Amino acid sequence: MELKQYFEEHKQEMIDFLRELVAVRSVMNEPSDGFPFGKKPAKALNIMLEKCRGEGFAVENVENYVGTAVFNNAELKLGILCHLDVVPEGDGWTGDPFVLRYEPETDKLIGRGTIDDKGPSVAAFFALKAIKDLNIPLKHGVQLIFGTNEENGSADLAYYRKNHKLPPCVFTPDGEYPVINAEKGMLRVYFTADFQDNLINSIKAGTVINAVPNRCTTGCGFEAFFYEGKSAHASTPEKGENAITKFLAEYSREFKNPLLLNLAKIFPHNEFDGKSCGLGFSDEISGKMTCVLSMLNTENGKLNGGIDIRFPLDRTKNEIIKILKEKLETAGFEICSYEGTEPHITDGNSPFVQSLLRVYERVTGEKGHCIAIGGGTYVHDIEGGVAFGAEFPNQDGNMHGADEFITLENLLKNAEIVAEAIIEICG
Ligand SMILES: [Zn+2]
Repeated sequence: MELKQYFEEHKQEMIDFLRELVAVRSVMNEPSDGFPFGKKPAKALNIMLEKCRGEGFAVENVENYVGTAVFNNAELKLGILCHLDVVPEGDGWTGDPFVLRYEPETDKLIGRGTIDDKGPSVAAFFALKAIKDLNIPLKHGVQLIFGTNEENGSADLAYYRKNHKLPPCVFTPDGEYPVINAEKGMLRVYFTADFQDNLINSIKAGTVINAVPNRCTTGCGFEAFFYEGKSAHASTPEKGENAITKFLAEYSREFKNPLLLNLAKIFPHNEFDGKSCGLGFSDEISGKMTCVLSMLNTENGKLNGGIDIRFPLDRTKNEIIKILKEKLETAGFEICSYEGTEPHITDGNSPFVQSLLRVYERVTGEKGHCIAIGGGTYVHDIEGGVAFGAEFPNQDGNMHGADEFITLENLLKNAEIVAEAIIEICG
């Protein structure tokens, strides 16, 4: 039987399994004994592992951090890394986010986690099951790896990797097709200065550091002024409009507080690459860096700010922070803390990546190519790892938003691509 036909015949089973997983609100919660991220992520993990055990895969649950399922006794070659935790539902849903709903007219399967990452997890499970059921011979072993903390810092993987080795090839269906092989480095920088001004007594802008702020509110005496922008992910600031830099630009035309004037100078409105901070770097693969002043708030006589930076593949955290520190100090601020990760790159010409691209082309009929992004995926810290799916180019399943979905067609296509990749790499 052909793989495509197999998934077509098992589609109801796939939908039912996805429904079972979506029904678990596996949002990170208070840890308790044996439940490092709360009970619900562990519950979703155990449902998945029971299903894998039922197929005869060798299952291991590593203290409810990560679970694995291995098919084939041969030496492990491929790991498929998925996660079963989800972000909170948020507002705006047209139905219950935890009751999977199929909409025949749009082919959408709607529910929290359908595209990120429970749908792709179900697809990966059925891909391996298909290979087993159809007796397709494999020379090497395949490992499904299910994490439970991707949405809150991936402490699951960090814990797992202390005592477990990953297979030599790892992909995660937690990004997009064709293949993401390059991810910029990231820095989050928090800075502060003493602040007093006889005109402005408060500034409030930005709630999270990794988003372009859409509103900046300033208080002057009994009056409040609002500056409106448009929010966007901090790795793609050109898609939004920064309300803080908009305020600073307008402010600096008339007023004179030196701290605000200095900030306006190093963060000009509509500059996205940090050039005025002495940065503005780029590389051939990942393109221009990004630098976003994403938080600015007064509190107890201080002016506190936050900056989100995504830097090129050929730079390091230390280089970037050194330049920025000097610039901020000259402007009258000091850095209170920063955190971040170095860039991630896997060779696009490696046999592993080439295999994935070949499979993608064969199944979809589209041209395969590698992409570089500013955000970090689940494999950011895994040497040689790439993201492979599960979103197709120009399709948006409202990841993290209301009415998140995967189409049934894409769920099946995902399973087919993963199965073909397993055969290509381990067959
Ligand atoms: Zn995800």
